[in-house]
Amino acid sequence: MGDHYGDVRVQLGRMKSLGEDAGKEDVDPDEEMPLSSPSASPDPTGCITAVPGTDALSADICKQKGKRSSKNPCGKPLQGFPAHAVKNFNSPLCDQTLHIKGTGKILQGKSAESNGNYVGVHESSNTQEPRCEDDFKLPRKRRPVTVDTSKAKTSLEALKLSIKELQWKEFHTGRRAACDIYWHGVSFHDNENIVSGQVNKFPGMVEMLRKINLSRAVRTMQELFPEEYDFYPRSWILPEEYQQFSTEVLLQHLPKIRMVKESDATESPTFIVKPDGGSQGDGIYLIRDPGDLKLVVGAQAKQAVVQEYIHKPLLIDKLKFDIRLYVLIKSMQPLEIYIAKEGLTRFCTEPYQEPSQKNLSRVFMHLTNYSLNVQSGNYVHSDSQNTGSKRTLSSVLYRLAAKGVDIKRVWSDIIALVIKSVIAVLPDLKVHYQADIPPAKPGPTCFQILGFDILLMKNLKPVLLEVNSNPSMRIEHEQEVAPGVFEYVPSPVDEQVKVGVIRDTLRLMDPFNKKLTATPQPRGGGSDPLEVIPADGDSLDRSPDNAGNLPPLCLKQVYPKYTKQFSHLRLVERIAALFIRFLGVKGNMRLGPTAFRTFIRTCKLSNSNFTMASVDILYIDITRRWSFALADSREAGMGLQAFVEAFFNLAGRRFKSLTLREQVVSLLDLCESHLGPQSGVEDRRSLSCSRALQRGSRPQALYIPHPRPSSPAAQRRATSQDCRPHQRPKPRTLRANVEN
Ligand code: ADP
Repeated sequence: MGDHYGDVRVQLGRMKSLGEDAGKEDVDPDEEMPLSSPSASPDPTGCITAVPGTDALSADICKQKGKRSSKNPCGKPLQGFPAHAVKNFNSPLCDQTLHIKGTGKILQGKSAESNGNYVGVHESSNTQEPRCEDDFKLPRKRRPVTVDTSKAKTSLEALKLSIKELQWKEFHTGRRAACDIYWHGVSFHDNENIVSGQVNKFPGMVEMLRKINLSRAVRTMQELFPEEYDFYPRSWILPEEYQQFSTEVLLQHLPKIRMVKESDATESPTFIVKPDGGSQGDGIYLIRDPGDLKLVVGAQAKQAVVQEYIHKPLLIDKLKFDIRLYVLIKSMQPLEIYIAKEGLTRFCTEPYQEPSQKNLSRVFMHLTNYSLNVQSGNYVHSDSQNTGSKRTLSSVLYRLAAKGVDIKRVWSDIIALVIKSVIAVLPDLKVHYQADIPPAKPGPTCFQILGFDILLMKNLKPVLLEVNSNPSMRIEHEQEVAPGVFEYVPSPVDEQVKVGVIRDTLRLMDPFNKKLTATPQPRGGGSDPLEVIPADGDSLDRSPDNAGNLPPLCLKQVYPKYTKQFSHLRLVERIAALFIRFLGVKGNMRLGPTAFRTFIRTCKLSNSNFTMASVDILYIDITRRWSFALADSREAGMGLQAFVEAFFNLAGRRFKSLTLREQVVSLLDLCESHLGPQSGVEDRRSLSCSRALQRGSRPQALYIPHPRPSSPAAQRRATSQDCRPHQRPKPRTLRANVEN
């Protein structure tokens, strides 16, 4: 650790010196093509530091757009980058092939080699991609990557800066022709009818990351792998599990059943109650007595999660803080996860005390949300990365390292938490994906930046609080410049972290840069520590140098890199593959009784002890119990989570003497043996996609502008039929975990 302290000092010194001019404001999309593409130049970036700038305050206050500061911390010339790091990011093709004269046409196909997300690939035979071996042609410039930013909402500022640094081309009011990339502010459905290119949202992500759904998904994993999923606090879903919650608390079983082991778990527990669709701390409160639960609002039962409260968080300067980590899901199938080496830490504004009946309502002490704490008189907006109420993750880690904390271990635990969390929600996401973009239907590929909120406990164990499907990418914050007059002012720390994350996400999604988009080989061996810690100074300078060269990527691949340590956890995905296989109708997300029977028959699961009549009873019983959990109660049938419960039940009947995990594995093996190889975790969609591709080349760049949306009644009719078209009704609530 001795060397490391030196690094830390150097790093802190460098941090202080950050902050130079960065060039002018926004890119205005003009029709001229840049001479060369940025991704062809030595590359990318990193991210570091940062601060808040989330949440909007009340709309009735006068807001004026603040001027962007001419001081931009991203403008510092590159120093000290190892030559190999720069070289690594040269474009994959030879220089001559990198540049091509753009015609504005989008020519893009889906590759069979990667799907769930199909990776967009330019086939040199039918695109303008120049051929390396053609010595007789003059080198041609590549057209810039085009980005539709018309739906970017509060990400717009950071996105513009990123596009400018990349010298790509922005279309801020949309474009008739297709773009290579669409940047949505809220959900996959922000912009309907995109049939090519890449969209920065997965279908279903908003729904899956709502507090209840996330808790359910993690709970399923906790049942299968209790030791591996002990990073998520024990949670109960309200109102349906109120009785169970009260009984467990009243009988004081909680110390025995806690998921997250704190040092003195025998103390009287505290719980945190979070409304299902809430964000930014809205509606959150702490309780010690189940009788204090507010179960009903108006005449309606309130959907919420009640969770064990982590009462011994790690403190810095006596303040509770949490970590915001940015995670890129680059592809769902095959699964590719990247973690930003730099993140944010958000501090409370009142010194922490362990919860007592007296202090339960002190939100500035217990909740770390920026949107809440900014309203306390103690909030400190700071230009520095390591002071104030929002700081960079690295500055906090360095500080901990200076106190002797093994931050590599902490970082490695955080990476594991992220990978496991993604694995937990992946099965449901796959069901959404196949419903919205069935293999034979033209559609875009998807990627998404998620915001992981993580609390470090006093014993340094990371705990997952929640995952935001739309983490705020604001790079300004509001400031009261005169009484009642607010204006947006740049937030350097936010800018430095978030622009790095967006820009490097774009670079990874660059449809022309095959080297960056290629999936690296998983690591050999099963015991590699999950290193990658942002501690060696390589993440300091994160902006282009004076020549426009970009620094190394601030996003680090963690999956499939660490496949071997985590692949055994992907059991529920195999169940989801079976589920999807028997869904039958394209666009469907629920299994009907006939399909369930077909599943039982095909996998030969019925016998004299378990007749088809029992199968029907099981179906009815489980489906009825899950009906309250349907995102849209108009859709009848068995959803994936209910199917998983049925599967556990079937596995228990069949393999009585085994543990649940063994039962599930045995039943999966049995089912798959009756079905053939198609139902593996990664390969089902691969096969489907190959089929789709063979059937004909994908339509080129079809963007259908402004279609008439089908009426809600038509959508209702469609969803009530067995055989329905691909369009599904829009999910009713898209606000969950949206920080915009
Ligand atoms: P929201 O989406 O409304 O921000 P969160 O789940 O992130 O909801 O919770 C808000 C804040 O409450 C967190 O930032 C954290 O400070 C605190 N918090 C949430 N869950 C817990 C928990 N289980 N233990 C301790 N503190 C928590």
